[in-house]
Amino acid sequence: MKIPKNFRTYCPYCKTHTVHTAERVKKGRASSLTRINRQKKRQTGIGNSGKFSKVPGGDKPTKRVNLRYRCNECKKAHIRPCFRASRFELKE
Ligand SMILES: [Zn+2]
Repeated sequence: MKIPKNFRTYCPYCKTHTVHTAERVKKGRASSLTRINRQKKRQTGIGNSGKFSKVPGGDKPTKRVNLRYRCNECKKAHIRPCFRASRFELKE
């Protein structure tokens, strides 16, 4: 999947359509996954670890793309719900 680097879209700060620049970020919005990791850490070494005993499944065929949209007018960035794509490129 290819998306243009600069495109016009709605800016929640300017409350109008402006030119935005898409930039890739390592992490999107913080997910509830961090809470699960803390729960996992709390497990003691003894006994069944309950729902954490499950064998993790294989890799998913697609990866979640994390993008940040920076408004060229107010220089503020906002995040949209990210989507999944097997391959992802930013067009110039
Ligand atoms: Zn703006």
